[in-house]
Amino acid sequence: MTTSPTDQTQQTLVDRFGRVATDLRVSLTDRCNLRCTYCMPPEGLDWMPGDEALTDDEVVRLIGVATGRLGVDEVRFTGGEPLVRRGLVSIIGRTREIAPHAELSITTNALGLAKTAGALAEAGLDRVNVSLDSIRPDTFAQITRRDRLPDVISGLEAAAEAGLGPIKINAVLLRGVNDDQAAELLGWSVERGYELRFIEQMPLDAQHGWSRETMVTADDTLAALSASFDLTPAEEPRGSAPAELFHVDGGPAKVGIIASVTRPFCGDCDRVRLTADGQVRDCLFARSESDLRTPLRAGASDDDLAARWVTAMAGKAAGHGIDDLGFLQPDRPMSAIGG
Ligand code: SAM
Ligand code: SF4
Repeated sequence: MTTSPTDQTQQTLVDRFGRVATDLRVSLTDRCNLRCTYCMPPEGLDWMPGDEALTDDEVVRLIGVATGRLGVDEVRFTGGEPLVRRGLVSIIGRTREIAPHAELSITTNALGLAKTAGALAEAGLDRVNVSLDSIRPDTFAQITRRDRLPDVISGLEAAAEAGLGPIKINAVLLRGVNDDQAAELLGWSVERGYELRFIEQMPLDAQHGWSRETMVTADDTLAALSASFDLTPAEEPRGSAPAELFHVDGGPAKVGIIASVTRPFCGDCDRVRLTADGQVRDCLFARSESDLRTPLRAGASDDDLAARWVTAMAGKAAGHGIDDLGFLQPDRPMSAIGG
């Protein structure tokens, strides 16, 4: 049977709780040129063998299935570090061609962004999220284990110049390392027109170093910020957005708090993940995955891949379960899932 373009969009990635995934996070590599302490050990990880990673054609094909048949309207490229993927600009250009109306963004550490921001914008990228935990060179180097703060700052400037806004900055606060710098980072971001969001540290590091007792909570962050700024909850409905937004000193500047651990938002989740080796994950914390690479390489049709993807999502758990007694951290670390 042939399918018309209308038939193609009739399936959705709905789970048994009625949540519909429309936001696809695509990991393009598990490799990275930083070694953030909350993400990776100093020596890095055993990187994925080259033949296990999806090729550019395979990634674009699966994105096409998601956007063309499964109702996905937002694609975020991540990793590892997406800017180290050689085919990134071409993958984004091809995604833009097959999904002209989808919102396309990347989450990046911004190393090398100064060079590629223009090409990324031209290829059809809409926005960037840049990860930056401190604007002090010594703290930046302590967290990332690399002395590269100037590259991040020039990357941010280039992204703004290329029109890749609104630019968001993701920051993770670590107790005794940069938790005294929350207000400084916010002032710096507001001055430059970047929207800062603080993300609670999650148990997703390869070294299993996370601890509930020492993590900096959303309450801690809000208390620290409130000493220097007047924060008022933003009135717009939050929907499926993970960040709780606050106006800074009456606005228009805003700051976001992503309290994945202490104020989970799983009930409104609209995300689905595709790993660099072609596995669908319905949650960052999922304990199982659904393989799309094997059927893809065995010649599966788009209909077949779409059907497998729909089945994969149906079993999504109600929540991440970090607070459950039997909680087990997923086998893949954040850098191999795609944050
Ligand atoms: N390398 C890119 C970057 O750093 O933006 C993209 C991948 S990184 C895994 C995506 C996001 O996950 C970053 O903002 C990073 O700060 C965040 N992240 C990594 N490990 C985390 C953890 N254990 N808890 C919370 N956020 C984490
Ligand atoms: Fe690399 Fe991003 Fe992990 Fe830092 S958080 S080590 S930049 S993947």
